[in-house]
Amino acid sequence: MSFTLNDLPLRDDLRGRSPYGAPQMDVPVVLNTNENPHAPSPALAAALAAAVADTALGLNRYPDRDAVRLREDLAAYLEHGLTAANVWAANGSNEILQQLLQAFGGPGRTAMGFEPSYSMHPIISRGTGTAWVSVPRDADFRIDVDAALTAVAEHEPSVIFLTSPNNPTGTALELDAIQRIVRAAPGVVVVDEAYAEFRREGSPSALTLLAEHPRVIVSRTMSKAFALAGARVGYLAAHTAVVDALQLVRLPYHLSAVTQAVAVTALAHADELLGAVDDLRAERDALVDWLRAHGFAVADSDANFVLFGEFEDRTRVWRDMLDHQVLIREVGPPGWLRVTVGTPEEMAVFRDTLLRVTGG
Ligand code: PMP
Repeated sequence: MSFTLNDLPLRDDLRGRSPYGAPQMDVPVVLNTNENPHAPSPALAAALAAAVADTALGLNRYPDRDAVRLREDLAAYLEHGLTAANVWAANGSNEILQQLLQAFGGPGRTAMGFEPSYSMHPIISRGTGTAWVSVPRDADFRIDVDAALTAVAEHEPSVIFLTSPNNPTGTALELDAIQRIVRAAPGVVVVDEAYAEFRREGSPSALTLLAEHPRVIVSRTMSKAFALAGARVGYLAAHTAVVDALQLVRLPYHLSAVTQAVAVTALAHADELLGAVDDLRAERDALVDWLRAHGFAVADSDANFVLFGEFEDRTRVWRDMLDHQVLIREVGPPGWLRVTVGTPEEMAVFRDTLLRVTGG
């Protein structure tokens, strides 16, 4: 008997949808999900293991439901006068975004994003029954603020996503643009800053807007600059009222005691974990220069990845790279590919392989 998804009482609005699908493949050079290429040092791994061992002695009890210690440490890391009451943490920033949509989106409401952007924004929106409105970015992947204001007036979104630096283009957003959109927005504005630590000198963070704009929410993660993707820790900074709102939708004890202990220990070693960020930024800038010198189109990047093109058949280039054991990402506008900045050795392999498969 063949039994498929179609035979299940799946919600009508989920029928025909595609799940998030970055390939997970066991190849030597993995440059497709914007991870930090540097694993924790043995000393840090030992400190994390010790924290977990200590936590294990209390695992018969539920964890701190409010993750207070972790939120205090995250607030101290963010500075800008923030306290634990302004910060909320969850299993990756994806869960943060989901909780935000549960609280501020939902049936009869609309979320808006400026695409190409992070593919999970529409997926999580739809998953929470929130209608999704996509506004196209302009040719150089910037947000056309006038077009944005027109779209906001037309659709009155409860939630607006501004991703800065944007994934997959790497584009940072000026504070002035954010402020103009915030002033016009009838709901909350989520600035997804998953890649904030990689931004170039002079690119601002929306954290500076929080004091003035209580409906701005800044979402961050430990998955990228902090090199902790496997631990699943994301967080937000916002007005305390936003944190209060999320209490209504979060699951009790959503963040395990193990996760909290790992995150607190990692934050105590922030200098080491963030130590590679400057090198990765320099490697990114060198990669952009190299790609341009070889005739590729490249989007300016404030992140730990670079969008480049343009290829007549990007799928062929992606597949040929994979045949040479280099996994990059087929994402973004047609004709473009995205590569995450890895170690100098990985980038050397990437460059050689790209020239080989494109005949450069
Ligand atoms: N926001 C953006 C823009 C991202 O690119 C990602 C991960 N690729 C996330 C959020 C989610 O990351 P995580 O759940 O690991 O924090």
